[in-house]
Amino acid sequence: MTFPQPERERMERPAGLEQRVGLGVDFHRFSPDRPLMLGGIEIPFDKGLLGHSDADVLLHAVSDALLGAASLGDIGQHFPDTDPRFRGADSARLLSAVVSMLGSNGWVADNIDAVVIAEEPKLAPYIAEIRARIAELIDVSADRVGVKATTSESMGALGRGEGIAAQCVVLIRRAPQRS
Ligand code: MG
Repeated sequence: MTFPQPERERMERPAGLEQRVGLGVDFHRFSPDRPLMLGGIEIPFDKGLLGHSDADVLLHAVSDALLGAASLGDIGQHFPDTDPRFRGADSARLLSAVVSMLGSNGWVADNIDAVVIAEEPKLAPYIAEIRARIAELIDVSADRVGVKATTSESMGALGRGEGIAAQCVVLIRRAPQRS
């Protein structure tokens, strides 16, 4: 069977309209005696997440989505968990560094949408504050930041409450040219 082969001519996009999409996914397991950092804020809970940095699973997913959209690798590559400089690192600072990296490559964030998957704690009371914090970190207005929370219906490791996962999609666009 043969398929018609259309002429594959590369379409040039007007520079100012160039956009890219990115995806970030992250998981961290719970650990006692650590603060729970999520979306750049501390959530009152009896355990936190385990990780080399502050283990902010949501900011890690956002950071990876941004890096992916710009084809700039991933956070493990830029901030290796073997590097003592990033031990206990504030993930908000890592995300700010990612936003600067994108800026140096001529990209700005347009909007993001993220989902946190956790049996507990209940996140509804904190969503507005998380959206505002992420908006500040990626330099957009809060109406360009979607954050939702869901459970995994008691299925699997997340369903047993062993940790938290986060997924994020982002759209980036060319930064306005400065004259
Ligand atoms: Mg992580």
